[in-house]
Amino acid sequence: MIIFGTKGYLYQLAILTLVCGRCGNPAAHTLRKRVTKFTLFFVPLFPVSTSYATQCTFCGAEQRLTKEQAEQLTAQAAGGAGQAYGQPHQQPYQH
Ligand SMILES: [Zn+2]
Repeated sequence: MIIFGTKGYLYQLAILTLVCGRCGNPAAHTLRKRVTKFTLFFVPLFPVSTSYATQCTFCGAEQRLTKEQAEQLTAQAAGGAGQAYGQPHQQPYQH
């Protein structure tokens, strides 16, 4: 018997101050990467899909980004804040 499925991972790449498109506040936004991995016998093997989004910490509005936009924002955050975000850590989804 073969057991397979998918498992979702959420990584926080950076925290950015952006003007929110919904509430209009220059609030902190988290930049997140969602990776869905194919699993075989509960062992994650390879990613099947990756998506990026920013979420406003003020109103919670989420906006989808392309990979290019996400990379650009990550580079901006790393350069602007003088901190390296090269090691994304896994975080539980919070509301
Ligand atoms: Zn907002």
